[in-house]
Amino acid sequence: MAKKRVAIIGAGPSGLAQLRAFQSAAKKGEDIPDIVCYEKQSDWGGLWNYTWRTGVDEDGEPCHCSMYRYLWSNGPKEGLEFADYTFDEHFGKEIASYPPRAVLFDYIKGRVEKAGVRDWIRFNNVVRDVRFDDSTGKFTVRARDSKADSETEEEYDHVIVASGHFSTPNVPYYPGFESFNGRVLHAHDFRDAREFKDKDILILGTSYSAEDIGSQCWKYGCKSITVAHRTAAMGYDWPENWQEVPALVKVDGNTAHFKDGTSKEVDAVILCTGYRHHFNFLPDDLRLKTANRLAAADLYKGVVWNQNPQMFYLGMQDQWYTFNMFDAQAWWVRDQIMGKIALPDAATMEADPKAREAAEDALEDDYACIAYQGAYVQELIDETDYPSFDVEAANQAFYAWKKHKKKGIMEFRNHGYTSPMTGKQAPAHHTPWKDALDDSLEAYLQTDKQAEDA
Ligand code: FAD
Ligand code: NAP
Repeated sequence: MAKKRVAIIGAGPSGLAQLRAFQSAAKKGEDIPDIVCYEKQSDWGGLWNYTWRTGVDEDGEPCHCSMYRYLWSNGPKEGLEFADYTFDEHFGKEIASYPPRAVLFDYIKGRVEKAGVRDWIRFNNVVRDVRFDDSTGKFTVRARDSKADSETEEEYDHVIVASGHFSTPNVPYYPGFESFNGRVLHAHDFRDAREFKDKDILILGTSYSAEDIGSQCWKYGCKSITVAHRTAAMGYDWPENWQEVPALVKVDGNTAHFKDGTSKEVDAVILCTGYRHHFNFLPDDLRLKTANRLAAADLYKGVVWNQNPQMFYLGMQDQWYTFNMFDAQAWWVRDQIMGKIALPDAATMEADPKAREAAEDALEDDYACIAYQGAYVQELIDETDYPSFDVEAANQAFYAWKKHKKKGIMEFRNHGYTSPMTGKQAPAHHTPWKDALDDSLEAYLQTDKQAEDA
């Protein structure tokens, strides 16, 4: 019988988890399918692969990167650690708990370099179209190789979509934006906080981007930060040049007007208004349509596309857990494709995401949401040979993180937690986050003494 062929779309943390899952089976002597991973960028790492570009990339494709200079992990690394490749193994020691982007990028790369899967990836290949043929039971994937300037069309038995969902910005309109006398930009296009030094900025949104971009701008010297909320304020104990105000109504010249009748002169408006699940390469019958939530719609076990179970999606949930959740999903998908996990009947598969949604709707607070996603990770790893780990210890790291944020929003990154993989305690970072202006890997990995001498 001909070998199965599997296409993976995207070589970010989710797609790389899938490659590592198949490689680990091959290493054990199992007969794995033929794998092709399409990646539109010239390197792997997904969002962690930073670019200074905004708008379109060098090939005229929408820029994928939503990260920015000086971005540090917003959650503890103990919540995302790979069970099969620890921080200790990669860096040769435990490192502090909130690494900057470059450090996490290095860690992501380390595992797949060790696995030797780079050859499975076709870089500079953007998937343009995927079709399923009922008569052959196969998918046709059409991709454009921007370096060869040519198009390919190949058939696959399975398609795994790992293209991420934090790259297509949700951009609301407010009256007056078209004549605002400054810059209106979305978080997706934010690259460097120094651009806003000595400026008064207005941020819309109250989630992670709002909190983190505001904090970056504060750290790198902006004059004032005003955050407008349409639902509820974030309510942290902010620095004195930071205020939270009700929803924006309109802007007029440089004046922003808010729902309570107050106003503020601002130099820039940064829309931290989230992202959209957007799959411009998929036809309607294969296209996931879901809100950004913990229980993504229409996916059995959070990964199988119910309308065509030969197709899978990775990492489409809103994320407390990230890298090790993608692993749990990838190992499960691998085993389903390789015939080790059977799918139930269609009615059971359809009921599964609905039950997950109902359970999510009943959650009362963020702590319950963390436990819910931790239980999902546990559920999947219990069904595969992904190295089991202490998910409760990862939950505990998240709970402590929440408490530390409440205690000091500009200080929470100075804390360290216990690795759920090694049981070792992370050291405190050599420099408090607010004073650590250099976000390079070299600066982060310095010892206390080297940092003092520098
Ligand atoms: P992505 O990282 O988005 O990767 C998707 C890949 O698919 C990309 O390489 C892209 O080029 C490729 N692709 C897309 N479309 C196509 C196509 N048509 N053809 C070929 N290739 C395609 N998580 C954390 O754990 N800690 C953090 O501190 C953290 N910070 C974040 C900060 C920001 C600003 C954002 C937006 C997210 C952050 N996240 C963080 C969450 C982030 O979603 C995950 O860490 C992770 O990057 C998701 O991996 P992914 O592979 O699912 O998607
Ligand atoms: P998000 O969590 O989806 O939040 C979107 C925000 O936009 C919500 O506060 C929402 O408010 C608001 N909003 C949506 N439409 C609006 C409108 N029309 N007007 C006003 N407000 C509107 O998106 P996000 O904050 O960009 O986070 C996305 C991901 O990036 C997360 O996984 C996060 O962890 C990650 N991230 C990480 C870092 C870091 O690690 N340093 C930094 C930034 C982001 P309502 O509550 O009213 O709906």
